[in-house]
Amino acid sequence: MKLYDIVVVGAGPAGMMAAIRAGQLGKNVMLIEKNDTIGKKLKITGSSRCNITNTASLNIFIEKFGRKGAFFRSAFSSFSNKRLMSFFEFKGLKFKEENQGRVFPVSDKSRSVIKVLKEYLSENRVKINYKTRLVRIKKKKDYFSLDLGNDNYMATKKVIIATGGISYSSTGSTGDGFNVAEKLGHKIVSLKPGLVPLTVSEEWVKDLQGITLENVRFTVKIGKKKIVSDIGNLIFTHFGISGPLVLDLSNQIVSILEKNETVNLYIDIKPEMTVPELEEKLINELEVRSKTEFKNFMKLFIPNRMIPIFVELLEINPKKKVNQVNKGERNKIINLLKAFPLTITGTLPINKAMVTCGGISKKEIDPQTMESKIVDGVYFAGEIIDFCAPSGGYNLQEAFSTGFLAGESAAKSLNPKEE
Ligand SMILES: Cc1cc2nc3c(=O)[nH]c(=O)nc-3n(C[C@H](O)[C@H](O)[C@H](O)COP(=O)(O)OP(=O)(O)OC[C@H]3O[C@@H](n4cnc5c(N)ncnc54)[C@H](O)[C@@H]3O)c2cc1C
Repeated sequence: MKLYDIVVVGAGPAGMMAAIRAGQLGKNVMLIEKNDTIGKKLKITGSSRCNITNTASLNIFIEKFGRKGAFFRSAFSSFSNKRLMSFFEFKGLKFKEENQGRVFPVSDKSRSVIKVLKEYLSENRVKINYKTRLVRIKKKKDYFSLDLGNDNYMATKKVIIATGGISYSSTGSTGDGFNVAEKLGHKIVSLKPGLVPLTVSEEWVKDLQGITLENVRFTVKIGKKKIVSDIGNLIFTHFGISGPLVLDLSNQIVSILEKNETVNLYIDIKPEMTVPELEEKLINELEVRSKTEFKNFMKLFIPNRMIPIFVELLEINPKKKVNQVNKGERNKIINLLKAFPLTITGTLPINKAMVTCGGISKKEIDPQTMESKIVDGVYFAGEIIDFCAPSGGYNLQEAFSTGFLAGESAAKSLNPKEE
């Protein structure tokens, strides 16, 4: 049986980068992928535009990966956002920066990112076996035997596991890597949905499906205790809420929901105005439009389709002329505009989450090399590692950086004298 220097499992961004780097360092690399194509999830990232990284500084990157974010310092330093962009620019791919430092290819196509990766894979002589699924790793005396099912085996000196998480399983990320790692003795930190839409108990949310609220303030409370507050855009869906702001805050909300059955959410629809400013505006408009019916008047403040919900929650006659709106009703309008309430009951299932939080415990991986501390010669890269990051290009940068470091470390470990 042929003995490879390195077998990389999973042709997502992490696995492809690991294979390319090991190939660049002259190793005989095999990349195995259970799909019949590379980068199936990468293709749908950023609505197929691929938010590949972020322009944030190294310290911000580490902050975004939470309390134990420093684990990724070596990976982000070895292959930073700047180095990632140069890597692609070298092959002619140009980038642009959008809001909050998000970086996209100028082409607005994830396909162009995959094309460059293909070029690098081929010029570094990485062999790719498609429709090949790793089932189990067996450690032999001085090599690994990879069980590929149906009595097929592959032999390798080093193995890099980059099989991703368990969300959007149709792209191939079905969690095989967790089973393989567990059998090797690794601990899996419990898997939870990350960047996931939220469900709410209010039935009427269905009537708001498709409405986007831009630059609203989103305040999450348990009882009276404020937990999180942030400004951004949200979209109502038939089950609850989604959109960039919701997805980003969902990581924290998932943890809160573990200890609380429901979480209260208040949307400040007019965060740019203080309560006195909003009151002044409301009083002026009520005077100017005194003969307007209440239901038409509210168009000044909220999207049309939200008006019936407002009317119901405020218990104000929709046909009432606004010159008859009294002070108590005015206060109720202001309260609802500043704190439109929703009750969060949960999230969509993990398969509908953009990322999987949790994974191989970071305590069992050497951050300098990505090598397992449990089994020498096994490396991990990408979403399979335990972390939970916000949207903005951070997840793909993590995949590319840890992939690069794992590929480089595995290759260098085969000829330590050259280091
Ligand atoms: C809809 C959507 C949009 C996203 N948009 C963005 C974005 O714009 N920016 C961003 O930073 N992140 C984004 N993400 C997250 C990002 O795609 C992932 O974090 C990233 O793809 C993880 O890379 P990976 O290489 O670790 O795993 P994956 O991309 O999941 O790749 C793992 C590969 O391993 C293969 N595999 C699995 N098991 C086996 C096995 N047993 N044998 C062989 N092969 C196997 C799979 O088929 C797959 O090809 C998005 C995710 C989704 C779902």
